[in-house]
Amino acid sequence: MNLDEIDLGASLKKYFGFSQFKGLQEGVIENIVQGKNSFVIMPTGGGKSLCYQLPALMQEGTAIVVSPLIALMKNQVDAIRGISSEIGIAHVLNSSLTKTEIKQVKKDVSDGVTKLLYVAPESLTKEEYVDFLQGEKISFVAVDEAHCISEWGHDFRPEYRNLKSIVQRLGDGIPLIALTATATPKVQEDIIKNLGIGDAKVFKASFNRPNLYYEVRPKTQNVDADIIRFVKQNSGKSGIIYCLSRKRVEELAQVLQVNGVSAVPYHAGFDGKTRSKHQDMFLMEDVDVVVATIAFGMGIDKPDVRFVIHHDIPKSIESYYQETGRAGRDGGEGHCLAFYSYKDIEKLEKFMSGKPVAEQEIGNALLQEIVAYAETSMSRRKFILHYFGEEFDEVNGDGAEMDDNIRNPKEKQEAMDDVLK
Ligand code: ADP
Ligand code: MG
Repeated sequence: MNLDEIDLGASLKKYFGFSQFKGLQEGVIENIVQGKNSFVIMPTGGGKSLCYQLPALMQEGTAIVVSPLIALMKNQVDAIRGISSEIGIAHVLNSSLTKTEIKQVKKDVSDGVTKLLYVAPESLTKEEYVDFLQGEKISFVAVDEAHCISEWGHDFRPEYRNLKSIVQRLGDGIPLIALTATATPKVQEDIIKNLGIGDAKVFKASFNRPNLYYEVRPKTQNVDADIIRFVKQNSGKSGIIYCLSRKRVEELAQVLQVNGVSAVPYHAGFDGKTRSKHQDMFLMEDVDVVVATIAFGMGIDKPDVRFVIHHDIPKSIESYYQETGRAGRDGGEGHCLAFYSYKDIEKLEKFMSGKPVAEQEIGNALLQEIVAYAETSMSRRKFILHYFGEEFDEVNGDGAEMDDNIRNPKEKQEAMDDVLK
């Protein structure tokens, strides 16, 4: 497409009703409609979907969107159908479809009706689908959650590794766009290498969350009492408390309840009904606190979570960033408090001991980084952003003072000395 002849702002308004692009969206879309490869790195909630949805709607042909989760794909398809009178404008192609449904999808794609075709990576490897798509006009291929391609990411999926060769079979010069919220340089390298998009224009948004306050406290025998005190000081506010084990989740939720805090437990061991009940209680503010394993949070969009407590330190800085990122989505206060003891690191190491050697090596390297974070006396925000390959000025940077090490440099060091003793 020729950029001079199109009005992206008008299309944004027409299809989505928004009057302004968010962050780097416009540049990404310009790049895509010019048929170039793009690599988009933006934090969760940054508005990555629109980067491929809008150009897909504007262009001829069908855009293929590779996404790892069926639930995510269905949500997006429903949302796109909601802005059009044409149901066939977006489809999911996967193994759960009936023969008749597949026929309809193929017809809509062939007729040029379908602008967005969502596929799971394992479906895209199916010969039947590859054969079919080879004969169709494909506008571009978007690889969402592209970190799934890397073992250094938090959600490695081997099927993502085959994408490059499949896209090549679909036709010559089909533009690729990779999108992820995982900003570590290692993961980015893997994505570029595996998808063969060394020539891609990179769009990277800042990962700084200036309204989040980062704090690490030594974890002692009295950690439950420390947590209760914190939660009571923040009573009436919404918060998430992460624990490593399901058992600890249940125990801590109970301890909080006994102490008059309205809290519910959440982990993958509960049946679906209990899980959605507890999740809803938190979202509807029937309770203040949810005590959970990492099973809680993906896709939870509660804007006014005021604190995220880590009863146990997570297995990587990446995980820590994603989990604390659920605080302060509305831009308001968000207190991120982690309790740290080196014993917990040893526990995490033990967890990994049964895994393949290569996986252990990666796991241990990630653990060393979180140890360094917990024990650092420098700006925590600078530490996190440095991990993501981003510079941060710890004196004048946005949110520089929202950090225990900056606010209380001395106390901090003494506290850590206590832990190390
Ligand atoms: P990501 O995939 O980066 O986590 P999403 O694509 O899910 O983010 O978008 C997050 C939210 O931002 C969505 O609710 C979306 O509707 C909204 N959004 C995206 N672009 C815009 C925009 N230009 N103006 C207003 N809201 C937007
Ligand atoms: Mg997304």
